Amino acid sequence: MIIVMERNAPESQIRQVEQKLQDKGFQVHLSQGVERTIIGAIGERTQAIMEAFETMGGVEKVVPIVQPFKMASREFKSESTVVKVGDGWVGDGSMQVIAGPCAVEGREKFLEVAQMVKDAGATMLRGGAFKPRTSPYSFQGLEEEGLEILAEAKRITGLPVVSEIMDPRMIQMMCDYVDVLQVGARNMQNFFLLRELGKCDKPILLKRGPSATIEEWIMAAEYIISSGNPRVIMCERGIRTFEKYTRNTLDLSAVPVIKQLTHLPVIVDPSHGTGKWKLVEPMALAAVGAGCDGLIVEVHQNPSEALSDGPQSLTPDNFKLMVEKVTRLSAAMN
Ligand code: PEP
Ligand code: MN
Repeated sequence: MIIVMERNAPESQIRQVEQKLQDKGFQVHLSQGVERTIIGAIGERTQAIMEAFETMGGVEKVVPIVQPFKMASREFKSESTVVKVGDGWVGDGSMQVIAGPCAVEGREKFLEVAQMVKDAGATMLRGGAFKPRTSPYSFQGLEEEGLEILAEAKRITGLPVVSEIMDPRMIQMMCDYVDVLQVGARNMQNFFLLRELGKCDKPILLKRGPSATIEEWIMAAEYIISSGNPRVIMCERGIRTFEKYTRNTLDLSAVPVIKQLTHLPVIVDPSHGTGKWKLVEPMALAAVGAGCDGLIVEVHQNPSEALSDGPQSLTPDNFKLMVEKVTRLSAAMN
């Protein structure tokens, strides 16, 4: 529930409410605005409890949070969360463009494509070092060597790097190399991993599971936030439907829904969302139109030779054309 204090309620009354909440076993989150204080309380809410707080001095009203997610909800925190990554911000109205190959395939190739996407306007680099492949016989990633290459690309280009974490045992090591830890679609409901990520201080890019409802996806964010890490960036990457023409069905309505239901930034992955490079640019533009805070796009120098996800990868030239249009569209929208 949320306890809205009266305008100019004195500090002593705020402390009393806070103390009583703690005595009753609630987790308390204070949000001190310019005009009034709002107290978010997580715990077992009953009618009697709400009434007990409603009658306390300085309390204007007690509002129940009806959604199953609490800390991620807009009701709990009305101002949008802005996540700092490197020198930039996700969710501040700017358009982040994260780009790079599906997987880090080798040092030379990665450093080259990193420079190419930077020159084309990318604001962050992506590249998988641990790859969640459907087949155990497919390329699984360069692992720590891949992370070293990512860190080198970061030093050279100055761009922050994003890479997928699959196992809680890798958190410590990955934090030494990357700026943003990506939770892949297949791990969206790996609750143990989510809880462990809640204990680290890196931003988390949380992809939507291939068959997750929006509510389940937000509940996954709730795991991370309630475990102590509020720096969550949501990522729509398409869901599985009966449609077979595209690899997934990119659910762009999720963008405004996430904005309405939560205070979290949301980005879109038109590469995995479609599985076809020719659809990446149109869906990237549609995502910008839907109000996303950024895009994550796969780019490869030679998509036909890529070790993973070649068919959905843009060439650096096509990526550059996409960025130009994205930049023009987001400027027009602002
Ligand atoms: C990826 O980003 O390369 C990836 C595997 O994405 P997803 O988890 O969305 O399938
Ligand atoms: Mn991929």
